[in-house]
Amino acid sequence: MKKTVKDIDVKGKKALVRCDFNVPMKDGVITDDIRIVSALPTIRYLIDGGAKVILMSHLGRPDGEPKKEFTLAPVAERLSQLLGTEVVFISSDRVVDDKVKEAASDLKDGQVMLLENVRFRKEETKNGADFARELSELGDFFVNDAFGTAHRAHASTAGVADYLPAVSGFLIEKEVKFLGNAVENPKRPFVAIMGGAKVGDKIPVIENLLKKVDTLIIGGGMAYTFFKAQGLEIGTSILDKDNVNLAAVLLEKAAAAGVTILLPVDCVCGREFKNDTEFGIYPKDKIPSDMMGLDIGPETVKVYGKVIKDAATVVWNGPMGVFEMPNFAKGTRAVAEALAESSAVTVIGGGDSAAAVEQFGLADKMTHISTGGGASLEFLEGKVLPGIAVIQDK
Ligand code: ADP
Ligand code: MG
Repeated sequence: MKKTVKDIDVKGKKALVRCDFNVPMKDGVITDDIRIVSALPTIRYLIDGGAKVILMSHLGRPDGEPKKEFTLAPVAERLSQLLGTEVVFISSDRVVDDKVKEAASDLKDGQVMLLENVRFRKEETKNGADFARELSELGDFFVNDAFGTAHRAHASTAGVADYLPAVSGFLIEKEVKFLGNAVENPKRPFVAIMGGAKVGDKIPVIENLLKKVDTLIIGGGMAYTFFKAQGLEIGTSILDKDNVNLAAVLLEKAAAAGVTILLPVDCVCGREFKNDTEFGIYPKDKIPSDMMGLDIGPETVKVYGKVIKDAATVVWNGPMGVFEMPNFAKGTRAVAEALAESSAVTVIGGGDSAAAVEQFGLADKMTHISTGGGASLEFLEGKVLPGIAVIQDK
């Protein structure tokens, strides 16, 4: 178990908090503030506990330069509205300078300050020791609450912990609890559902999960690489050529380990990669040579639905089809509905899968939707995330 803000004395102390305020912006306006809203519980807890709160985050990819279009000023404003209190913000090209230090040391208990985009400094992504120390000198302890960057060893996500005691905020606590429990200590039957476009990216996840799950369900674009490995005709479906052999190896490994791998039994195939194309349903061994598989078919939905219904833990990563196109969204929607109706612990990882669940209005029916795309994948791979490793154990 990792220490959280609840395990330490915060009153009168300066809390240096890494948040994920990497919000989508258009022309300087925040288009979705969910990441800011999600960070509020930890910030409010610290304010209420009488800490002086110093927040840091990155935004976009300014590549180590103080590029004005990546300023966190709009985030400071939005955060201030949401908290109903002033958020001190000093836009410094160096993130930390004398004015910033002074403002930080002038904070009163319960006051909040946001630093400028940490990626204005080249040292951030290189985990430069000097920058980490400069940041750490602003605080008495470090709180990591940015799960989305926890798989990166950067100055503000890991480096600062060389100089400060580190605890987690509530967001990271929740991610570790649900992702960690699902993978390390699952209620069985444990079913993992893998989909999405590229097998290559997810092979390490599949390899790790094969050691843990009872059943592995495969859908989405990656299914066709497995079909290819089985010698089936896949037409013009998406294919990860470099990984056909690996897919075959995974099928063998699963058989040897007694893990069931389920592949689609039918597919919705389209003539072209667009919504308004001629399409039809074909059994997996009858995919026309001039068509591409764009969704799992209705028979597959039945099979997968039954397995999901009987599961006690389900981890889902990657859509079952091209859900962005209505004609090829049915399989993903049906799987999302099966998860929503099931009494299993349901954990969603992956940006597009989370977006799909959101799009179907089923987000609040899931046990946990991970906020970190890359970070959740590395977690499911069984990797140690640097931003979590630095947090003190209880
Ligand atoms: P996640 O972000 O949940 O980890 P991925 O990024 O791996 O998921 O994959 C999501 C993408 O996979 C979606 O944009 C979806 O359209 C695409 N996809 C799913 N099935 C297919 C398919 N059969 N052919 C091509 N693309 C697909
Ligand atoms: Mg994605």
